[in-house]
Amino acid sequence: MGVRIAGTALPSREQVSFAVSGDRLRAVPSTEDSHWWLLPGLVDVHSHAGMDQPGDAYSHARFRRHMLDHLAAGVLTVRSPGSPDPVRDRPDDPDLPRLVRAGAWLATPGRFFPGYGRQVTEADLVTAAVEEASTGWCKVIGDWMPDDPPVPLDVLTAVVTAVHAIGARVAVHCQTEAGCRNAVLAGADSLEHGMHLDHSLLPQMAAQGTALVPTFTTFAKISAGIPDTADPRLRDWLLTGWEHAFPTVRAAHEAGVTVLAGTDNKPCGEVAGEIAWLVKAGMPVEAAIGAGSWTAREWLGLPGLADGGYADVVAYDTDPVEDPSVLTRPGRIILRGKVIA
Ligand SMILES: [Zn+2]
Repeated sequence: MGVRIAGTALPSREQVSFAVSGDRLRAVPSTEDSHWWLLPGLVDVHSHAGMDQPGDAYSHARFRRHMLDHLAAGVLTVRSPGSPDPVRDRPDDPDLPRLVRAGAWLATPGRFFPGYGRQVTEADLVTAAVEEASTGWCKVIGDWMPDDPPVPLDVLTAVVTAVHAIGARVAVHCQTEAGCRNAVLAGADSLEHGMHLDHSLLPQMAAQGTALVPTFTTFAKISAGIPDTADPRLRDWLLTGWEHAFPTVRAAHEAGVTVLAGTDNKPCGEVAGEIAWLVKAGMPVEAAIGAGSWTAREWLGLPGLADGGYADVVAYDTDPVEDPSVLTRPGRIILRGKVIA
């Protein structure tokens, strides 16, 4: 007999029983009581596998190590919103989590780490975005430092229009109030960070399906480690942004915005910690877990736990909605039909 897995599926809370057939799940009659709680794997929608520090060249060995760290933590899907990998159509390694790519970071002058990412002029941004979006997504650095102007709204709107026209999506790095506003008004598919997002834009985000990826994990580190020598204006901007992110996430969820879990951090494999931050910000536990699991998968176009769906399953011995700390202790991990643990 091949691999079988049964238990209580989340979020439906139905008792399910599956046989693994290749990389697919097939529903089978339940033969035994199972104590497992089943998720279609965790998801980290903001993780740059393959580099440790801004400026790093792509290393495939490092990429594999990062992805294996995700896998060991039960993270079966990763979206990479910007990568130093020069190969846009690199096939997925079958032993690693599913990877949703967004090509290289698209950085216009004065925005992003100097010399890093794909450097383009504002005039060339649309063409470059369409090229990078052959992966399904592109990632635009929409703003950078607190007092600097964001990518102009007309340019960003032209990017979103052109990328949507080829059936792909646009993620926008934005942290300033003006940068977040332009990302929303341009119709971006996701705001990455969104630190100083004005709450009056939340209804528009909900209506047009713009998701928010607050990346608490990385900002917890940044806000705790601002050096004494930092420019006071920068320090104030980072700390007020950090404090503002908590009510923003709660208000976004309540307004019907899709809030998703992305760590933007190393080591990889810590999305359970990001889910804990979302709960701390005021999201209901089940919604926060969905943000790092089924909701994120659906948003990325991947099926959940269903007959005919991908055989990606992580099992826990406790209901994660009752005790989210169990998310750091997966009992079984199945990726693409292969038993990992
Ligand atoms: Zn990032």
